[in-house]
Amino acid sequence: MRKVAAIAADPAAPAFKRFSSPLGEHVLIVSHSRVFDLSDELARDWDADPVAASHLALVLAEQSPGEAPLSDVILPTAQSLSLNVSSACNLSCGYCYADRGGFGGAQSKRMTPEVALAAVDSLLAAADPKAPVTIGFLGGEPLLNRALVHKVVAQAESAGSALGLDVRFSMTSNGTLLTEADIAMMRDRRFALTVSVDGDGDVHDLQRPTIRGKGTFAELAKRLAPLLTDPGKAQVAARMTVRAGRIDLTRRVDAVLGIGFSEVGVSPLRVSRDGSELNDSDWPHYLAELIALSRRELAQAITGNRIRLTNFAVALKRIHAGASSPYPCGAGGGYFSVAAEGKWYACHRAIGDDAFALGDNGKLDEQRRQAFLVERHVHSQTDCRSCWARYLCSGTCHQEAPSRTGAGCDFIRDWLNFCLAAYCELSSARPDYFGIHVVH
Ligand code: SF4
Ligand code: SF4
Repeated sequence: MRKVAAIAADPAAPAFKRFSSPLGEHVLIVSHSRVFDLSDELARDWDADPVAASHLALVLAEQSPGEAPLSDVILPTAQSLSLNVSSACNLSCGYCYADRGGFGGAQSKRMTPEVALAAVDSLLAAADPKAPVTIGFLGGEPLLNRALVHKVVAQAESAGSALGLDVRFSMTSNGTLLTEADIAMMRDRRFALTVSVDGDGDVHDLQRPTIRGKGTFAELAKRLAPLLTDPGKAQVAARMTVRAGRIDLTRRVDAVLGIGFSEVGVSPLRVSRDGSELNDSDWPHYLAELIALSRRELAQAITGNRIRLTNFAVALKRIHAGASSPYPCGAGGGYFSVAAEGKWYACHRAIGDDAFALGDNGKLDEQRRQAFLVERHVHSQTDCRSCWARYLCSGTCHQEAPSRTGAGCDFIRDWLNFCLAAYCELSSARPDYFGIHVVH
């Protein structure tokens, strides 16, 4: 891990965000995401004198030992790699960012075992043994290159163990080709499987048909059932894509939970190949749907249950942890994605995009990597550097950032505002949800 630059924050950027919850008044200190309750009197004073409030917020924002300076650009060790093992798919979802694995002609062949193992070798050789290493499988549909997946898992595990590394695996799959052998491989190890499922059956079959136009919801449910019933060490989650015109969430999420998933993440399309991304007028409707579903999950959590909406559960966990980062993800930092022919990109969504190309199986181009991270630091983003959500949203996905709109950002801020209030409610009603034990 090496500091390579520092990018100054905007001195005029808001240092705090005031918000209310059913419990009362609160403030978020933007740097290091610290949440404080305010008495009514203190809230009145705070709101009456924003200059004094900003000074106080800057004091409360001071970096604690162990917290990384938010201006720094760090080159961390690569700990995570996704392998784009297949350039084809048995489904034909119109919105697919990967163009069914072909990436608009950038990836025409499936990955060979030689390319995959060379990438894994370079990852393992440089990885930090103090942190887990993750190897992911993507495509197209990665199970169309099943033999390679099984081979890489076996070899990476034995090479990792010889080096004293904790090697874990992940895969994003459409679930329709899963076999007993795949399930056995996943159950036996820390394997995170994300299944793309847009349920219920009606919406899923419309959005995710086979190349012959046949629906796939029933097949997916049948293939996944044994793993969902008995996941072993594997972790299985559903990821639902939400496109314009089909924004109803609760019924669809319930249908996915109904086939045995224990958690579902929803992902609105900001960029698509078929024009189905949400437009400005869709965002308020999407926000209302997401909040309605989250309120239901919050009520359940207050009575002792789990939150099954991944987006909400993760947001609450991050707020509790004081998550605060100038980057939305590890792309180009600790994470890379390898194209079928062996080129390393900062992200799996950007295969074939030269702006994201950072090296190959032989060597990472450290200068390009540094420039990539400097350019994408949240302090370098004109829209973001003065936004109160800058260290929680962190500028959104790099690949989607060029499509950022005012309405899309309003959605992000309103959603975070809701999550902050929900965090105050849940941490008060159920401190144990966050591992806090109250001694009376
Ligand atoms: S992407 Fe939008 S909401 Fe996120 S930090 Fe930037 S301006 Fe703020
Ligand atoms: S750039 Fe976007 S898609 Fe890629 S890893 Fe980051 S958040 Fe994910």
